[in-house]
Amino acid sequence: MKSEPLCIDCEKRLGHLESQELISHEAKQLLEHPERVIQAELPLSRDDGTLEMLKAFRIQHSTKRGPAKGGIRFHQEVDPSEVAALAFVMSLKTALLDLPYGGGKGGVQFNPKEYSKTEIEQVARLYMRAFSDVLGPHKDVPAPDVNTTPEIMGWMRDEYAKITGADEPAIITGKSVAEGGSEGRGTATAMGAYFILKERFADQEPESVSVAIQGFGNAGSILAKLLHKDGFMVVAVSDSRGATYNKAGLDIDAVSKHKSGGNKISEFTDGESISNQELLALDVDLLVPAALGDAITTQNATDVKASVIIEVANGPVTTGAEQVLDDQGVEIIPDLLANAGGVTVSYFEWFQNVHEEKWTEDEVNQKLQGMIADSYHLTKQAAQKHKVRLRDAAYKIAIERILN
Ligand code: NAD
Repeated sequence: MKSEPLCIDCEKRLGHLESQELISHEAKQLLEHPERVIQAELPLSRDDGTLEMLKAFRIQHSTKRGPAKGGIRFHQEVDPSEVAALAFVMSLKTALLDLPYGGGKGGVQFNPKEYSKTEIEQVARLYMRAFSDVLGPHKDVPAPDVNTTPEIMGWMRDEYAKITGADEPAIITGKSVAEGGSEGRGTATAMGAYFILKERFADQEPESVSVAIQGFGNAGSILAKLLHKDGFMVVAVSDSRGATYNKAGLDIDAVSKHKSGGNKISEFTDGESISNQELLALDVDLLVPAALGDAITTQNATDVKASVIIEVANGPVTTGAEQVLDDQGVEIIPDLLANAGGVTVSYFEWFQNVHEEKWTEDEVNQKLQGMIADSYHLTKQAAQKHKVRLRDAAYKIAIERILN
């Protein structure tokens, strides 16, 4: 019987590439199915003495280029088709950056906000017990994702050591620096996007480039600081509660201080309070969605006035919106490339663990800059050669690397 793809998004994306004659039908068939889907039931003993069974998954999309690589998320909406889609993206991202990895992803279907710390630790350890056979430094290397932290990675590493009798830090990445993590991992995603932007705007004075950033969390706030320090004119930033705008440029360090003091971004004294939707519609050179997926849809795409969008978030521009933006001449630097700094420094962490090395933050950032700039230029050249969008070019490069 013909097997139906688990991931509808992957099928659609690959179908689009096939219709553009960028990949063959066989390539589509091969990649729309993950290599392996493993499901487990985790028996969690709650603090009140009751037993709860939690669904858990590990999906290895591809191990052709090396061990599967990808995070583990703890979220009540985790399901196999979502995990398969995320694992597929990891295969492409690692291939685009030419890392010696495949792609994987995992998850546990529960809301950690409703559980105690000891229960969460138990879930982490149960996860490792359930999947230890298929995980390993040279088989499949997990990392943090939504709601999973360096501390959780530490528990998983410890449990793996208990099961195998050998303490191998390279079993997992995203550990704290004290537990074998890498310098520069915390800033890696923003740093990767920043290095791409330095290449993209190399022929312009940073002061002449106006920027609006949606999302002032780990990725968005660090990127805002890096751009501001470099002289870019960051005119607006937002979080889930609203945005602040100053046409002459915001003092990002002051915004950061204001926010960390528990104040609302929209109440920043040296800026005008605007809505999140107004931020997306600002007349700026660069728009940075760094919050959630599906931020720009067919509903608001025509309002976008920016000439360049860099997708720091995963999937912030829907497929329908991309067509609209394309017609408006907006250039999109795709998530596959834009937020690949994180997995690249995860690879550095794994490499340092395997080779018992310790790199400084400067070394990490220097190596990251070289790899991310190379991948950006390669993607740009492929887009020009095939007369396609950067996203399609990035997919084509990654897929050819996976299949050859
Ligand atoms: P985070 O939780 O630290 O920050 C998210 C920010 O977005 C917060 O400031 C939040 O208030 C804001 N936000 C939420 N809804 C919003 C809305 N409607 N309008 C404006 N702001 C809103 O998350 P993060 O780690 O910075 O990740 C941001 C995005 O980048 C996510 O899509 C994530 O998948 C992607 N990403 C992050 C990493 C990483 O290493 N941090 C790696 C790859 C991809």
